[in-house]
Amino acid sequence: MAWRLSAELGMPVRLSVTDNRSTMVSFRRGSAVLALRLHHMFLDAPEPVVRAVADYAGRGHRTAGAILDEYIRGQQPRIRQMRRESDADLNPRGRCFDLQALYDATNRDFFQGLIQARIGWGRMPPRRRRKSIRLGVYDHQTREIRIHPALDTPEVPSFFVEFIIFHEMLHQLFPSTGRGGRRVHHPRAFRERERTFPHYAAALRWERENLGVLLRG
Ligand SMILES: [Zn+2]
Repeated sequence: MAWRLSAELGMPVRLSVTDNRSTMVSFRRGSAVLALRLHHMFLDAPEPVVRAVADYAGRGHRTAGAILDEYIRGQQPRIRQMRRESDADLNPRGRCFDLQALYDATNRDFFQGLIQARIGWGRMPPRRRRKSIRLGVYDHQTREIRIHPALDTPEVPSFFVEFIIFHEMLHQLFPSTGRGGRRVHHPRAFRERERTFPHYAAALRWERENLGVLLRG
């Protein structure tokens, strides 16, 4: 695909393939290279669609967007099918935050895109008085990150949601150590890396000052 696009455009194309359903096609045009993110449905797209991707992303032809839209619409049943099979209950789209977008940006900015996980909102637990709240969880088996839905409100700053996502992503990089009753879920290397988050201090402060709001959920 990258090769077909490079040939079409006469410039190198850096292609990444996503499962991100909120953005099917996104791109950044550099002076020498075109960085392109495509939903994997495009991998076996027919020639005219590939040309439309090139027109749209590489040459800035807005009109090519219509061809892409049509192709994406045509693929919907297939995507719905895959969604049912793989992540029926893992939805990254909240009312306020699109976890997939935050995850993608975090992965790109802090992990060189190396973390491989899926992300979505957790289920809202039954309303009751809580003493503590687990804002995120990472499942090593399924490589799924779930974020507590109490964070999906405009009162929560996005840097805080990003911090929780960053934290859960670190779990993939630094698995817990020890065994049995003496497991260390956040080894020293984990904590050191966590402190490199740009809004680390602000995030901890925000959590301290607003935990009450979250607990009321
Ligand atoms: Zn943790």
